[in-house]
Amino acid sequence: MRVLLVEDDPMLGSALQGALQDHSYAVDWVRDGAQALLVLHGQHYDLVLLDLGLPQVDGLQVLQRLRGQGNAVALLILTARDGLDERLRGLDSGADDYLCKPFELDELLARMRAVLRRKGGTGAPQLGNGLLRLDPVTRQAQSADGPPVQLTQREFALLQALLLRPGAILSRSELEDRIYGWGQEVESNAVEFLIHALRRKLGSGAIQNVRGVGWKVAAAA
Ligand code: CA
Repeated sequence: MRVLLVEDDPMLGSALQGALQDHSYAVDWVRDGAQALLVLHGQHYDLVLLDLGLPQVDGLQVLQRLRGQGNAVALLILTARDGLDERLRGLDSGADDYLCKPFELDELLARMRAVLRRKGGTGAPQLGNGLLRLDPVTRQAQSADGPPVQLTQREFALLQALLLRPGAILSRSELEDRIYGWGQEVESNAVEFLIHALRRKLGSGAIQNVRGVGWKVAAAA
């Protein structure tokens, strides 16, 4: 999952980026609204965390412009402005949810999962295709005939990307995009290495290779 964090407070931004990376998200961090719009124009994100009080272009304007351009990316507002008007304007402008600062990390993570579930069109807390199941809270995966196994952060990020769209083929660079944020060095063969590890844990048929194109999990039965 690739997340864009838009936050001008350096301490909060840095702490959030680190904490979200620890929870398997690939996180890019920008510090003003103009940069956010620029980056969102060129890169696909699964979720945006948007502060409202920002230099250059404020958060509400960022949101309004995005939605005005037809960009439907999942978006959660993080704001110190806890006034009712502000929250209502955010939601009415197309935010999927909001969280008032200060907040607990666990609550942010739970709300991110909820927004992503709704956007993905599935209300179910677990991802699956009938053969594999993945729990985003515990980061455990299970094949139909095996015990639950614990995944590493990157194994989880890769399997999650595939299970969000069972049957769809994702290329190496699409998978790398979901696993690595800016400035995180992509080791060569990282994707093959992770696929190998996942197959060892979940069975050789868990992930299918489509030669020269990419990888997929079977379409939901
Ligand atoms: Ca701010």
